[in-house]
Amino acid sequence: MSAERHEFQAETRSLLRLMIHSMYSNKEIFLRELVSNASDACDKLRFLAIQQPELAGDDELAVELAIDKEAGTLTVRDNGVGMSRQEVIDNLGTIARSGTRQFMEQLSGDQAKDSQLIGQFGVGFYSAFIVADKVTVRTRRAGADEAVVWESAGEGEYSLEACDKEDRGTEVVLHIRDDDKEFLEPMRLENVVRKYSDHIGLPIRLKGEGDAETRVLNEARALWTRPKSELSDEDYTGFYQHIAHDFQPPLAWAHHRVEGNLEYTSLLYIPSQAPFDLYNREQQHGVKLYVKRVFILDRADELLPNYLRFVRGLVDTADLPLNVSREILQSNRVVDKIRSALVKRVLDLLDDMAEKRPEDYAKFWTQFGRVLKEGVVEDPANSERIAKLLRFNSTQDSAAQTVTLADYVSRMPEGQEKILYLTGESLPALKNSPHLEGFRKAGYEVLLLADRVDEWVVTHLTEFDGKPLESAARGDAEAAGKIETPDKARFEAEFAEVVGKLPEALGGRIESARLSARLTESPSCLVVPENGMSRQLLEILKQAGE
Ligand code: ADP
Ligand code: MG
Repeated sequence: MSAERHEFQAETRSLLRLMIHSMYSNKEIFLRELVSNASDACDKLRFLAIQQPELAGDDELAVELAIDKEAGTLTVRDNGVGMSRQEVIDNLGTIARSGTRQFMEQLSGDQAKDSQLIGQFGVGFYSAFIVADKVTVRTRRAGADEAVVWESAGEGEYSLEACDKEDRGTEVVLHIRDDDKEFLEPMRLENVVRKYSDHIGLPIRLKGEGDAETRVLNEARALWTRPKSELSDEDYTGFYQHIAHDFQPPLAWAHHRVEGNLEYTSLLYIPSQAPFDLYNREQQHGVKLYVKRVFILDRADELLPNYLRFVRGLVDTADLPLNVSREILQSNRVVDKIRSALVKRVLDLLDDMAEKRPEDYAKFWTQFGRVLKEGVVEDPANSERIAKLLRFNSTQDSAAQTVTLADYVSRMPEGQEKILYLTGESLPALKNSPHLEGFRKAGYEVLLLADRVDEWVVTHLTEFDGKPLESAARGDAEAAGKIETPDKARFEAEFAEVVGKLPEALGGRIESARLSARLTESPSCLVVPENGMSRQLLEILKQAGE
C-alpha cells in the first residue's frame, strides 16, 4: 500500500517554521517534550487497564531512548497507549487546540519566553523539528490490529501509511540535523533527562549502542512519594517544570502527606507567572489527580475552588476508587474534605510567603492578585483569611498595590471609624477624584480600587478587624470623615434656595443636592445615596443585561 500525503493545517506550518528558527538557545527542550508525551501515554495506558486489564500485558511501562550514530537518529520509544490512524491525524497533523493562534500572537521574539510558551500551549510534539530535519512516528494503539507510520520533514506536509509494528506504543525517530549531532551523545542525553525528567514515575532507559548496556537514566520514583527530607529545592523545581510545562521556577510549594481518617499526599505549587488564559473561564484548571499512584485526571478542578485556579500540582489519594469519574468527583465527601484541606494549605503557603518573603509575595500579587480577590466572594468561609492577603493602592501609596487592610487600620487617625475606599475605572481617574478632597484635608487614607472585581469584593467584604468598609463616594461619608464645616448654619441658609432647585433644574437626573465640606477644590461632585448602588456596580449590572 502506498503512502497517503496530507497537508498540515496552515497554522501548524507557520508554527513549525517558527519553532525551528526561534529555539537556538534552548534546543534541548525537544527531549523533555517527547519524554513527557511518552510518559503521558504510559499513564493513559495504566488508566485504561483499570477497566481492561488485557490491554496492559505484563511488560513494565517505560520510555526508551536509542541512539543510532550511523543512521544519525535518536529514537524515543514507549509502550504506552499508542495512537490509532485517526488519532495520528488529529494529534500530529492538525492543531485542534484553539490556543494555537493566540500562541502565535503572544510570541515576543525573546527566545527564553517563547520556548516557555511552547510548553504552555501544548504544542510539544512539534519541538522535535528543532533538532530533526525528518521525524518518523510509528505507533500502534493498545488493542488495535493496525499500526501506522507518520513521516514529515516539517515543511508543510506529512505522509501516513500502514506499517508493521508488533507491540503496542509509539516510536518517534528523529533524524538529527547535522548541526545538532550533540544529541546523539549519551552523556548529553543523560544530562537533559536528569534536568527535566528525573522524577517521572517510570524508568527512562538509554539503550546502549553495540554491546553497551542499557541504563536507567532517571530516579524513576514519583517525586511526591519520596520523603521531604530526601528532596532538594532543585528536585521540587524540576518536577514543577515538568508537570506545569513552565520554564520559570515556581514561587513556592507545599508538600504534605496526610494519614489517618483521610489518606492523601498533596504537592501544590504557586507559579511565578500567570498563564495567558488565566481569565478565560472555559480554560481548565485544577491539580492532577492520582489514585494510589495511578494517574486519573490532568486538571481536576473539583479539588480547588476557582479563585485558586493558578495553583498547580497534584493530589494522590487512597480514598477514591480507581474508576472514579467526573460525576463522582462532583459530589463526593472525600473530595470535599480534600478540597477544604487544600484551600487551607494554599492560604497557609501564601501567608507564609507574605510574611517571610514579601518581595516574592509582591510578585505573586502582581500575577494573581486579581484572581485571589475573587475568593472574598466565592469562599465566604475563608474570606477573613483572604482579606489579610489582599493588597491595595491607596492615597498613601498609589504607585503599587502594597497596602494591606492591617496597614490601613494601623494608620487610622483617632476619630476615624471606617475603612474608606473609592472604586473606579482607572487609578489615574481615582487619584484625581473630587471625592478625595475632603478626606485628604482631614488626613484620612482612602483605598483606591480600580480592578473590575473590586466592586464585588467590597460588596462582600463589609468589615475588617471590626472596622466597617465604606465607600468614599457615599452620601454620609462626611460622617465617617468627621469633617468640620465652619459656619455651617450660615452657609446652609444662604444656599438653601439654589440647592433646593437643583434637582428640577437638572431634569430630575439627581435625587437631591446638598452642601458639603468634602470638596476643597472642585465645585461639585456626584455621590451615591446611602443605600444606593455604586456607579460602577450599576455599570456592571447594565452590561450584564440586568
Ligand atoms: P500535549 O502533550 O500538550 O497534548 P503534544 O504536541 O506534545 O501536546 O502532543 C499532542 C498529542 O499527540 C498528545 O496529546 C497525544 O494525544 C499525542 N501523542 C504525542 N506523543 C504521543 C505518544 N508518545 N504516545 C501517544 N500519543 C502521543
Ligand atoms: Mg506533550
